[in-house]
Amino acid sequence: MVFSPGLLPFGDAICRFNPVYGQGMSVAAQEACLLRELLRRLGKETDPLAGLAPAFFAEAETLIETPWALAAIPDYAVPETEGDRPDDLEQTLEFGAGLVQLAATDAAVHKLWTEVLHLLKPQSVLRNPEIVERVKGLAAQA
Ligand SMILES: Cc1cc2nc3c(=O)[nH]c(=O)nc-3n(C[C@H](O)[C@H](O)[C@H](O)COP(=O)(O)OP(=O)(O)OC[C@H]3O[C@@H](n4cnc5c(N)ncnc54)[C@H](O)[C@@H]3O)c2cc1C
Repeated sequence: MVFSPGLLPFGDAICRFNPVYGQGMSVAAQEACLLRELLRRLGKETDPLAGLAPAFFAEAETLIETPWALAAIPDYAVPETEGDRPDDLEQTLEFGAGLVQLAATDAAVHKLWTEVLHLLKPQSVLRNPEIVERVKGLAAQA
């Protein structure tokens, strides 16, 4: 997508989250930090604004990935939620439920889970092979 130099949609204008999860301001703040970093980096270029929008969108996508996966994907468990459900929705929901169960008995997993919920770490840390195995083990016992 091509944007006029100097035009940069931001915050809710590029992705709006369900307010119930309280993520929108945090993501907008993270995007502000990203913008500051990019302006510093691109400020050395002859035309800094030329590459700003593509660089911002590429990195903002990574920022948005975790809050979207934490909130919007579980919302698909509700039949009335509209939108295209991912093919692996059932596995994702099962993994989330198993993770909550594991976090209830393991303080280290609970800490990690809370850090992801508060957007301090990416959700990929919860896909650590050891955690995945333990979640599978719990599912097998159920
Ligand atoms: C009920 C509710 C509860 C929420 N609770 C939380 C929470 O607990 N934690 C959290 O992190 N996030 C929460 N959010 C989300 C958060 O409010 C938004 O994600 C955040 O405000 C987005 O910031 P923004 O700058 O993109 O947009 P906004 O804050 O909406 O700012 C956009 C601004 O542009 C102005 N504007 C619009 N059109 C024009 C125009 N044509 N010309 C000039 N100005 C215009 C608007 O008046 C507004 O001031 C909540 C949202 C809602 C609705």
